[in-house]
Amino acid sequence: MLQAIKGMNDILPGEVALWQTIEETARAICEAYGYQEIRTPVLEKTELFARGVGESTDIVEKEMYSFVDRGGDNLSLRPEGTAGVVRALIEHKMHAADPEVRVYYIGPMYRRERPQKGRYRQFHQIGVEAFGIAAPEVDAELMAMLYQFLREIGLPDVVLDVNTLGDQSDRPRYLEALRAHFEQHRSELCEDCLRRIERAPLRLLDCKSERCHAVALAAPLVLDHLGPASREHFDGVRRALDRLQVPHRVNPRVVRGLDYYTRTVFEAVSTGLGSQNAICGGGRYDNLVEQLGGPALPAIGYAQGIERLVMLVADKLALRAPTAVALVPVASEQRAQALEIAALLRGRRIRCILDLAGRSVKAQLRRANRANAAFAVVLGEEEIRRGQVEIKPLVEGESAEQVAIASLVDRLTARCAERAAG
Ligand code: ATP
Ligand code: MG
Repeated sequence: MLQAIKGMNDILPGEVALWQTIEETARAICEAYGYQEIRTPVLEKTELFARGVGESTDIVEKEMYSFVDRGGDNLSLRPEGTAGVVRALIEHKMHAADPEVRVYYIGPMYRRERPQKGRYRQFHQIGVEAFGIAAPEVDAELMAMLYQFLREIGLPDVVLDVNTLGDQSDRPRYLEALRAHFEQHRSELCEDCLRRIERAPLRLLDCKSERCHAVALAAPLVLDHLGPASREHFDGVRRALDRLQVPHRVNPRVVRGLDYYTRTVFEAVSTGLGSQNAICGGGRYDNLVEQLGGPALPAIGYAQGIERLVMLVADKLALRAPTAVALVPVASEQRAQALEIAALLRGRRIRCILDLAGRSVKAQLRRANRANAAFAVVLGEEEIRRGQVEIKPLVEGESAEQVAIASLVDRLTARCAERAAG
């Protein structure tokens, strides 16, 4: 039997309502904050991620799906969304008219990790990026947007862990302090970390191996190595977050596994997920646009994993299926008329179930119940001759109603609208 690739999931019709609700909520909130959707290819040149995400990150070193295509180009499935968005921004000079560019994306990402609960090889992210403004209020506004989203999908208890990584002026001093610390503990570090001490000491703070984690816990803190500009920025972010009443706490252990971050970094963590507990990660990346060949545009963004959101909200998000109507032709002679009525209802976007297989009335009503239809209309020879039908309630709280066939579509439309409003 042919099967899907390990770690790549089908999202079946039964699960999809949850996905749609999450995506629609994200779209509505992003639009309210002035973000517009951008869609970039899932395949990019490998070089983009090597330069954008960072050569010495886990993602680029171990997790990318990379291959040489028939023309000899080195390509990779995107492991994250920011690099592609920045490439598109530069390529299309999206900043030319106005440097303040705000975009969001929703789509699949690919990382060859060990599949387990909450960790897949194809997963989906909702991400946002705000370019052009360096003020700390932008950071707070973005996190407030994230918090509003989490609240609206039913996760008000998520707290944002915020930290700062400093900027170019304080980074070298901090990296030296980190290297010195890790050098003293060489014997306790994993091979990856040993290799990275010189080139990417920040990465060691993020290592998932237990022994490295213990060494990382004792490492010097960025917060003690900040220059005045970075400190002022961080204080500004926290003041604005307080003002906006976004629940947050300073967590000096948040470093984020990508090379491009500067200053503010943050994560949203949920206790309901076990070890795959990060639902969102983000931060400021003031140098990336320039590093990839664009202008010096400050930027900040975040990405959240939809699969982990779905796991958390599955039992919390009350999804109301749209009201449906079942048209029940008694015999094949009534089918054409039923089809015509169904077309009129569907033209008004009313979900309509219609049997075209010649089932008995009883079987049709059973299927209507299973499909959660609220109303059924039986169309027999007698009804059509008299021009009168009954709107038959299939759910509690609805009543029967006799109507002329000529006004059936209007009455059903009204009944469905009342149901949706109630
Ligand atoms: P983790 O620490 O769990 O590996 P990460 O730091 O690699 O996460 P990011 O690169 O910051 O994750 O991606 C942002 C979000 O995307 C994560 O918070 C998570 O919700 C989701 N995510 C990342 N990798 C996966 C994956 N393999 N499967 C499912 N969701 C993922
Ligand atoms: Mg990861």
